[in-house]
Amino acid sequence: MPDSAKFQRGVLGVFAYSRRALLLVWTTNKPLSILLGLLTVIAGILPGAMAYVGALIVDAVIHASLLHRQTGAGAGVGVLSGHPLNSGSLLFNVVRYVALEALLVAFTSMAQRGLSLAQSLLRAQLGQRVNVMILEKALTLDLTQFEDSEFYDKLTRARREASSRPLSLVMRTFGLLQNAVSLITFGGLLVHFSPWAVALLVLAGLPAFIAEAKFSGEAFRLFRWRAPESRMQIYLESVLAREDTAKEVKLFQLGPRLLDRYREIFVRLYREDRDLTLRRDAWGFGLGLLGTLALYGGYTWIAAETVFGAMTVGQMTMYLMLLRQGQSAVTAALSAVGGLYEDNLYLSNLYEYLEQPVGNSTGTLAAGPRPGDGIRFEGVEFIYPGATTPALSAIDLHVRPGESLALVGQNGSGKTTLIKLLTRLYHPTKGRILLDGLDLQEWDETLLRQRIGVIFQDFARYQMLVGENIGAGDVRAFDDESRWRSAAAQGLAAEFVDQLPAGYKTQLGKWFKDGRELSGGQWQKIALARAFMRNEADILVLDEPTAAIDAGAEAEVFEHFRELTRNRIAIVISHRFSTVRMTDQILVLEEGRIVERGSHESLMAADGRYAHLFTLQARGYR
Ligand code: ADP
Repeated sequence: MPDSAKFQRGVLGVFAYSRRALLLVWTTNKPLSILLGLLTVIAGILPGAMAYVGALIVDAVIHASLLHRQTGAGAGVGVLSGHPLNSGSLLFNVVRYVALEALLVAFTSMAQRGLSLAQSLLRAQLGQRVNVMILEKALTLDLTQFEDSEFYDKLTRARREASSRPLSLVMRTFGLLQNAVSLITFGGLLVHFSPWAVALLVLAGLPAFIAEAKFSGEAFRLFRWRAPESRMQIYLESVLAREDTAKEVKLFQLGPRLLDRYREIFVRLYREDRDLTLRRDAWGFGLGLLGTLALYGGYTWIAAETVFGAMTVGQMTMYLMLLRQGQSAVTAALSAVGGLYEDNLYLSNLYEYLEQPVGNSTGTLAAGPRPGDGIRFEGVEFIYPGATTPALSAIDLHVRPGESLALVGQNGSGKTTLIKLLTRLYHPTKGRILLDGLDLQEWDETLLRQRIGVIFQDFARYQMLVGENIGAGDVRAFDDESRWRSAAAQGLAAEFVDQLPAGYKTQLGKWFKDGRELSGGQWQKIALARAFMRNEADILVLDEPTAAIDAGAEAEVFEHFRELTRNRIAIVISHRFSTVRMTDQILVLEEGRIVERGSHESLMAADGRYAHLFTLQARGYR
C-alpha cells in the first residue's frame, strides 16, 4: 500500500463507523435524531454569534463613552457638536446588545440542556435496540458458531457494552460536528480580518488533529489485534470470581497461579500501551505547542493592528476571543477523536458479529415420502470444524417407530455427536440422515424439532422456577402447571419437588433471591421430566440422563421410559449395561465407527467388545 493511502486510512479509519452509528441512531428514533442534529448545529453557531455581539457591545460602549466625554459630564444632549444622538440613546444601544448577548447565553444553555436530554432518552432506546439486535441474531446462529471461540468472543464483547458504546460514539461524533461548526463560524468571522488569520487557525489545530486521529487509528488496530489476549484476561477474571468455579479454585489453590497469569498478560499488553501512549503524547505535545505558538502570533498581530488603528477595540476583542475559543474547540475536538477509537472498536466488533452469515436451514416440508420409516443414517461422516479426523464415519443405521436403540462406547467415541447430527444441530459432512424417507435438511425446522425430544448430559439448569425448568421441554406448555406435574411424575421428580418450600414455584439456582440449589441427581430428574414434557415427540433421546441417579431409580426411570416410548423411537446413551440390555438394538462405537451391532443376546453370543465390557461391569457388581 502506498504511504499516502496508508496514512489516509490511518486518519480516516477513526471515522469508519461514525456513519453506521449515525444510521443506527436515525433508525432508532428519527425525531430525537433530528432534534440532536439541530441542537448540535445551534450549539456550534452560538459561540461565534456571542463573540460577534460581544464586539458590538464593546464598540457601542466606547462610542457612547467618547460621546459622553465630548458633550461634558452631566449634559444629556450633544448640543455643542450638533450630534443628533444623545448619550442616553447610545446607552440604550449598549443595553440592547447586552440583552441580545444575554439571550444568546440563554439559548446556549437551552441547547446544552436539550442535547443532554436527547442524549439520555436515546441512551435507553439505543441500548435496548442494540441488545435486541444482538439477541435476535443469536437465535439464528448455528451451534457450530457458538462453539467457534473467536465468534463466541465477538458475541460476548458485543453484549458487554451494548448499552453504552453506540451512544458514546454518536455523542462523540456529534460533539466533533458541533466543534467543526463553531470553527467554521469562527473562520467566517475571522476572514473579515484577514484570510491569513483563518489559515493561522487551521494551522494551529489541524496538525494536532491529524496526529490524534492517526494515533487513535493505531490504537484501534492494536486493540483489535490483541483480542485473544484480552479474551484470556476476561476468562481468567471470570474463573477467579465466579461462583461455579470458586469451589475448585479454592480447593486446588489455583488462585495465585491464575492471578500470576493474569498479571503477565497485563505486563505484556501494558508495554505496548505505554509505547503508543508515549508516542501519542509526545506528538500531541509538540504539535499542540506549535498551535499555541501560532495562536500567540495571531494575538500579537491583532494587537498590533489595533494599535495602528486598523480596527476597533471591539473587533480586537472579538478576534482575540475567536482565536481563544477556536483553540478550545480544537482541544475539545481532539479529545473527542481520542475517544472515538474505543467506540469504533466496539462497533467494528458488533457489526462483524451481526453480519456473520448464518447457516441456511431452510427446509419447508412437513412430511416424508415414507411415513413410519423412522430414522436412517446412510454413510454419515462428520468432522468438527477445525478438526483433522472425523468424529464419526461410515455410520449406517435404521430405527423404526416402536424400536429402541442404545449407543455404547468409550468417552469420545462419538455418541453425543451422533445425537447432535440426528437433531440437526450439525450437518453431516458426508452421507445423509433421513426421517420418514426425507433428508433432515428438507424438514421444516419447527416441525422437526417438535418431533424430537432430547436431553443431553450437559442439559441446561435454568435459574428459573422448578416448574419452568420442566415446562421448558415444551414451550407451548411452559406455564402449564398440570403438564409440569404429569411430566415430573414420569421423570420421578414429583416426590422431591413436592417437598420444596414453594413446590413447583420454587426458584432454582443461586443468582436470584431465595434460589434453591438441587443435587446433581435431582437436576437430572428435572431434566428427565423436561424430556417427558414432549409428549408429542415421536423420537426421544436420552444422552446419559441417569449418570447421577442411583441405580434403583435408573431402573425405574427406564421402565417408565420403555412404557412411554412404546410406539416411538427411543435412543439412549448409557454406561449402565442394566439399562442398555433392555433396548432392541445396541451399537458399539469406537473412534467414530460402529464396531458391533445387534441385540444384547446376539452381542453376548458373539463374545466381542460388548460382551467383554458387559462382563467387566457385571463383575464389578458381584
Ligand atoms: P462421546 O459422546 O462418545 O463421549 P463425543 O461425540 O462427545 O463423544 O465426541 C466425539 C469426538 O468429537 C471426540 O474426539 C471429541 O474430542 C470431539 N468433539 C466433541 N465435541 C466437539 C466439538 N464441539 N468440537 C470439536 N470436537 C468435538
